[in-house]
This record gives sequence, structure tokens and C-alpha cells, in this order.
Amino acid sequence: MAFEELLEDPVIQKYLHELVGPKGMPVAAAPPDGEVTDEELAEELDLELNDVRRALFILYENDLASYRRLRDEDSGWLTYLWTFQYQNIPENLEEEMYRLLDTLADRNEYERNHEFYLCEVCSIRFEFGEAMDFGFECPECGSPVESMDNEMLVTAMEERIADLRDELNVDASA
Ligand SMILES: [Zn+2]
Repeated sequence: MAFEELLEDPVIQKYLHELVGPKGMPVAAAPPDGEVTDEELAEELDLELNDVRRALFILYENDLASYRRLRDEDSGWLTYLWTFQYQNIPENLEEEMYRLLDTLADRNEYERNHEFYLCEVCSIRFEFGEAMDFGFECPECGSPVESMDNEMLVTAMEERIADLRDELNVDASA
């Protein structure tokens, strides 16, 4: 098996699992050294060929596998020889963290810049404007909606953002 060290990292295991799902995980978790065909993998891992192909294609779409095609001169059959490209995982993960950081920063700004009202009966949250339109009564059940403090949510998000910035070595002012 190749890339053993990378695959020991639980963050990387989780990342692969999210990409290929439980059915594809046996394929993703055991990248062979060198080239392999989908049939070989299916046989070796005792999996349906379609599940193997699906996992390989997802890895391919994420730059984590490549293939070359060989045509059999006699039968005309195409064989796909796959190579796992897990050296690209760290870069992919970093891109993903940047995306998450952007999303969290936007979300945090939205939370900070809006006032919210809550129907405690239905657990539905309304923006101030909505709540006002409804006369500060829940449109579902008619209960009065109460002003809601989202400080805890904002604080939790800011901690997560700070952690991510730290991990990515991003300056907070950037
Ligand atoms: Zn309600």
C-alpha cells in the first residue's frame, strides 16, 4: 500500500470518507503502489465493479487519481490503468479550509449585522424585518417572538475562524 503515512491522519481519513462515501472507502483507504485496474481492485477488495469505478471517478475528479487507457490490439477492449495521486491531498485540504474560512467569515458577518427574533414554541428564527412584518408574532403558531441573543453562536464562530486562520497562517487583518 502507498501513502501509508498520509492515511494515518484522521483528518485525511475523514476527508476521503466525505468524498467517496462508505461504499467507496475501501478503495480510497488502500491505494496500491503503482498502477491498478478497476477489475483488479474489485477482485482484491471483494467489491462491486460499479462501486470501485464510482470511487475512482470521484478521486479522479478531485485530482487524487489519474488513469491511462490501453487498447487491446486483438479485442479492441480498453483497459484503464489507475494511479493514485494522494500527494495532492494536503493541497486539496488546504483549499477546503480556505473555502470554509470564507463561508464562516460571511456567516459571522451576517450574524453580527442582524437582529434576530425567536419563536420558542416552533424554534424558528426570524430576522428583525420579518418579525416586524409578522407583528412580532410567529406566523406558524401565533406566539409572541422574543428577541434572541446570538452572542454565543458568534463567539463560537469567531473561535473557529481564529483556529482556521492559525492553521493556515492567515493574518487576521487579511
Ligand atoms: Zn411558533
